[in-house]
Order: sequence, then structure tokens, then C-alpha cells
Amino acid sequence: MQKLCILGSTGSIGVSTLDVVARHPDRYQVFALTAHSQVEKLALQCEQFNPQIAVVGSAKAASELQRLLLGKNLKTEVSYGSQALCDVASSVDCDTVMAAIVGAAGLPASLAAARAGKKVLLANKEALVMSGQIFINTVRDSGATLLPIDSEHNAIFQCLPHNYNRHPSEYGISKIILTASGGPFLNRNLESLSDVTPDEAVAHPNWVMGRKISIDSATMMNKGLEVIEAHWLFATPAEQIEVLIHPQSVIHSMVSYNDGSVLAQMGNPDMRTPIAYGLAYPERIASGVAPLDLVKIAKLHFEAPDFKRFPCLDLAYAALKAGQTASTILNASNEVAVQAFLDGKIGFRMIDQIIARVLDKIALSSADDIESILECDKETRVITQALLAS
Ligand code: NAD
Ligand code: MG
Repeated sequence: MQKLCILGSTGSIGVSTLDVVARHPDRYQVFALTAHSQVEKLALQCEQFNPQIAVVGSAKAASELQRLLLGKNLKTEVSYGSQALCDVASSVDCDTVMAAIVGAAGLPASLAAARAGKKVLLANKEALVMSGQIFINTVRDSGATLLPIDSEHNAIFQCLPHNYNRHPSEYGISKIILTASGGPFLNRNLESLSDVTPDEAVAHPNWVMGRKISIDSATMMNKGLEVIEAHWLFATPAEQIEVLIHPQSVIHSMVSYNDGSVLAQMGNPDMRTPIAYGLAYPERIASGVAPLDLVKIAKLHFEAPDFKRFPCLDLAYAALKAGQTASTILNASNEVAVQAFLDGKIGFRMIDQIIARVLDKIALSSADDIESILECDKETRVITQALLAS
């Protein structure tokens, strides 16, 4: 019986994870569930899975959850705050942690799981983008198992050799090809992009996801973050990571080898496939995802990305190449700018412009420890907010 901690259980990834878990009660037991503020949704999840601990974001949310669980005859203890998230993620009572909190807020708990040597199912790409080498070193030193849940990275993981030891050249790997749907604005008139609304931007053609990652998909910053994520996960230089537009999202990514072979992983666009893969690895279990009907799909389309339409992609490659804290700054300024767009404070095209200005403004530093990373994240947020207010 694998004991699970699901960080961000009320989100899109959290809900899909519980859907897969519910199909296999003989394999998985839920130790902890966590949510920031969606207390009612979390209460329903507690009723269904009866976890030992439920963690929320504030004392107020905790007493609300306690009230909702009263008289339900559950074993669930309620706790709150960021230390409580780290405690459940590193508890001796859990083996596997689904890291599915969105944004930088997920870093401390994701890292705590890695430090404690857990099997870490990483959806929270921002944690890895922010802390790169520190995260990877932590996994190496603790003996944790890091399994990518992001569909592209899960696909690449499946297409790499089983004994892959982070040296692409030793395995004849010439390139990693990250596929991208291009989001809702792939073919939209460029001039009209300044006027798009948050509702138009979150309406992704193939995937149903949280609001932040949906905006990141519309700007293609999501793919930019994924380039950086792929660099750290698979020890591949930026030059060997290519982005390919594939609007149908059937091929989730590919690995190209020097003998001319290109291995691809395919499937319907449904996050339960990579989640089930991560949960059961190295076995395979049913995920509830419908089988792929290639006759119905009939044609697969590919094209090169237009870096002028998607400047965020360029900014991410540049940040990866610049090294040091550039990716931390990129991630933090993006989070602030995306929130400002969602709140109706700035237009869509302002997102990339703000990030570019912030990257120009802050001097890069080496940041060898997590405290410096968190400090850089904080400083970037202050500077981005000041730019937004000016
Ligand atoms: P979401 O917005 O649907 O859910 C986010 C979860 O994080 C919620 O449970 C929320 O309660 C929790 N949370 C938010 N802020 C928090 C805070 N400050 N402290 C603690 N918890 C907090 O997001 P999502 O779409 O499920 O994405 C989660 C992560 O997975 C992101 O990093 C995203 O990039 C990644 N991801 C998502 C998908 C997808 O299909 N949704 C695909 C690939 C990767
Ligand atoms: Mg992805």
C-alpha cells in the first residue's frame, strides 16, 4: 500500500490524481490532502478519502474545515500554514508526494519531500524552474525518486533509455523535442492580442487546467518554463531542447537519437495518463483515459514556433542560458504579471513586456542556497509590483 500526500488536492492536477487513486483502493491510501482556500471542496475530498491530515492556508480556513468535518466520523486532523505543508510532505507516514501546488508557493514543500527522500511526482514545474541545481542536488543527495508529471516531461521520461544517467551524449540523444499546442492564440490576428480578455486567454483548446497555467499556455511562457524544466530534469543543454508546435496535443513530446530514430509518446490529452504513470512507476495501471483513436484523428500537424508572436518563449531560453538567478526572476515576474492580467490590471501583451523589463533591471547572482532563491523571488515580486504601479 503506497501512502500518498497530495499537495494542492483541490486543483486541476489534484482532482485528476484523486480520480486515478479512487480507481485503485487496493494500491493507494491517502495520508494527507492540502488546499489553500477551497475549504468546501477539501471537506468533500476528506469525506471520500479519510486522510490522516488535511492542511489549509490559514487559521480561519482551518476552523472552517474543522466545522465542516464535525460529526463525520473521520480520522482527519486539520492543520494550516507553510510549515504544516513541509511537515506532511516529509512525514515518515508517507512514501509518495504529488507536488501539485501552483507557482513558487509550492517550492518549500516540494523541496521538503525531495529532502526527505520521497517518491516525488512533480507537477509544480515552477519549483524546479526557480531552484534548478539546488532541487536536483537535493534529489541526488537524499536518494529521492523524481518523476515528472508535466505531460511533455513524462513523455520524454518514457522515451529515454531506462538506465539514463543524465549524460545525453552517452546514449546517442541528439535532441529533446517539446511539443506545444500553441494555446488559444496560435492563429489569432497579432494586433488584436492586446485586447484579449482573461476569459478568452484561459480557454485552452485541448486541456482543462488551473487559471495560471492556462494564461502561461496562451503566452507560451508555459513552454518556456518547460524548456527550463527539461534542462534540469534531463541534464540537456538549451541548444538540444527544441519546441515544436503540434496543435492536436496527441504527441506529448519526443526524443531524437543520433541514428535517426525519433521516439514519441502519444495519447489523448488527459493528465490522468502521466499521473497514473508516476503513481505506479515502473508498473502501468488503468487511468480512466479513453484509448487513442488515430483513425478519428486522421492527421497530425506540426509547425515551428513564431518567437515574435510568443516573446515569452524567447525570454525563457535567454534566462536559461544566462544561468544563475535569471530563471528565478523570470518565474517570479511572470507570476506577478499573470495575476495582474487575471485581475484586469494590465493587458495581455504587457505580460511579456513587464517580464523583459524586470529581467533587465535586476542584477543576476549565483544563489547557491534556497534562502537566496527565496530572497530573489521576493525582491523580484516587489520590483514587478512597483513597475506595474508606475
Ligand atoms: P490549480 O490552480 O488548479 O490548483 C492549484 C492548487 O494549489 C490548489 O489546490 C490550491 O489550493 C493550491 N494552492 C494555490 N496557492 C497556494 C498557496 N499559496 N499555498 C498552498 N497551496 C496553494 O493549478 P493546476 O492547474 O492544478 O496546476 C498545479 C501545478 O501543476 C502547476 O505548477 C502547473 O504548472 C502544473 N501543471 C498543471 C497541469 C494541468 O493540466 N493542470 C499540467 C502540467 C503541469
Ligand atoms: Mg506541460
